[in-house]
Parts: sequence; structure tokens; C-alpha cells
Amino acid sequence: MSDPKAKILIVEDSSSMINYIRSGLENEGYNILLARNGIEAIKVMENSVPDLIISDIIMPEMGGMELRNYMQNNYRLNLIPFIFLTVKTEFNDKIKGLEAGADDYITKPFKTEELLAIIRARLNRYKLLGDLIKYDKLTGLYNRRELEERLADDLNRARRYKKILTIAMLDIDHFKNVNDTYGHMTGDIVLKHVAAKCKEEIRDVDYAGRTGGEEFVIVMPETVKEHGLLAVNRIRLAVSRMSIGESQIKVTISGGIASAPEDSLNLEDLLSFADMALYRAKDAGRNNVKKYESVWSKV
Ligand code: GH3
Ligand code: MG
Ligand code: MG
Ligand code: MG
Repeated sequence: MSDPKAKILIVEDSSSMINYIRSGLENEGYNILLARNGIEAIKVMENSVPDLIISDIIMPEMGGMELRNYMQNNYRLNLIPFIFLTVKTEFNDKIKGLEAGADDYITKPFKTEELLAIIRARLNRYKLLGDLIKYDKLTGLYNRRELEERLADDLNRARRYKKILTIAMLDIDHFKNVNDTYGHMTGDIVLKHVAAKCKEEIRDVDYAGRTGGEEFVIVMPETVKEHGLLAVNRIRLAVSRMSIGESQIKVTISGGIASAPEDSLNLEDLLSFADMALYRAKDAGRNNVKKYESVWSKV
């Protein structure tokens, strides 16, 4: 089973070799990115992170070993499956390549079928690992780390391209009572339902993560604060209307909203401002949503 949307970066200086590799991969439906040497590859990866890399070793300006060493020291890139495809057939070269962190070392000439089989195996495992690393097991939402990484990327984009975004921090009201009354397992079921409702109510471009026990963060790119407030109030209402499980449990949520660049372009600040707004919402009686106001920080 190949993932047709997987992005594969080919790093290779020979045009005929590029064409040969490329036609084999495109027949399988992979998306192809191209670079002529290590420097170009690094540039390409700044805009688009591939799911797998096939790299030549001998290339002008920056060769494959140097590229691999660069990736090895970069936490965002070092886990991407990396295959050397090279004319260097010496045993010692192969050892060096694998020691530099490559997953495979294939020598030219090679059979496309072999390359494709290796790619499929590497992509499948990378996807499994990625899912384990990114998602919260109970709710299927992003976990805290993944949410913060994505938000950091979006804030960088917002800074660079002058975009706006709004985030919301949500927390289930009096959730301790649910656990105390119905038990922890039923509490888990309630958490799942609230998470599913959040996911159902947000747009495709928005994303949600479980950032704490009964706390969620929603990121809404290209959304002004006022529209974010409307969206989160819609979610709040939808949650309050659910009756969950055999005991028909009702819960409510409170939310706090903050926007970039209006409130901050800094990840920690933005989260802490949304948190401040959330606490105002709790203080105001729960089952409601508050926007962060910059005057709060000045008092
Ligand atoms: P508030 O309205 O102020 O948010 O009140 P609360 O009771 O929701 O808040 P509090 O922080 O006092 O309690 C949160 C509860 O969430 C306590 C904790 O046991 C529960 N909780 C945290 N993680 C999980 C989980 O994974 N499963 C279950 N069932 N409960 C959890
Ligand atoms: Mg070459
Ligand atoms: Mg709570
Ligand atoms: Mg909480």
C-alpha cells in the first residue's frame, strides 16, 4: 500500500538519473520535489518538509554526506526516512552512509521495483511512528507537543506574511464532578465526546489538540478574534446540548480567546493570554467564552 500523497525529495545532479527515478515514482502517484545538490535540498525543505528523501552522494557544492550530516543535527529533519542512491559501491562507503544516519544504501544501477519496495516500507513505518508521536491516544486530537509545533509554524507564517490567526483554550467545567460521580472511565468517554464535538464543529483548516487533562486548544488560521469568538461559542453551545453515554451526562465548557498579531506573535504569550481569558470565563460563571483584553496586562 503506497500513500499517494507522500512527498519525496530527490537530491541528484544528473538529469538523466532524475528522470529515471522520477518516472518510476510518479507512476506510483508520489509527489516529487527536486534538488540538484545539498544546498538546494536544504532550501527546498525550508518551504516543504518531505516524507522521504532519496539522495545521491557525489554532487557539486554540497554532497549527500554533508546533507545527511546537516539533517542529523536538525531535530525537525533527522527522522525523515533517508535513502542514499549512489555509484559509490565500496563497502566502506556504505558503512559511512549508514553511520551518517541513512536508512538504506542502494547502489547504481538499481531496479525501480527494489527502490519502490524500500520506499513503501519506510513510508509505512514513518507514518506509524508519526501518528504515535503526534496524536493524543484517548481523543485522537493532536497532543500538546504537536499542537505547539504547528502553532509555532503558523505564527512564523503569520509574522512573515502578515497573516492573522486566533486561538482558543477550552476547559471542561467542573469535570472533577463527572469523575467523582460516574468514575474515571466514564470521564474518559465524556472527554472523547467533547473532543469529537470540537473536531466536528471546526473548519478543515482549523486544528485542535488536547493540551492537558480536560483542556483543549483550537487554532483558527486566518480568523479575526471576533469570528473566533463566534466559532467557539458555537462549539460551546454544541457541547452543552450533548447527552453523553448511558447516564446521559451533560457537561459545559468555558473558553478563552487570543489573536495574533493583535495580542502577540509569541507562542507562550498567546497561550498564556488565552489562558487568562479562560480564567475570566470561569470566574464569570463558566459555560461561556471570553476574549483576551490587552488592558488586563497593564493592571
Ligand atoms: P473547572 O470548572 O474549574 O475547570 O473545574 P474542574 O473540576 O474541571 O477542574 P479541576 O482542575 O479541579 O479538575 C480537572 C479534573 O480532570 C481532575 C482530573 O482528575 C480530571 N482529569 C484530567 N485528565 C483526565 C483524564 O484523562 N481522564 C479523566 N477521566 N479525567 C481526567
Ligand atoms: Mg552525482
Ligand atoms: Mg475543568
Ligand atoms: Mg483544567
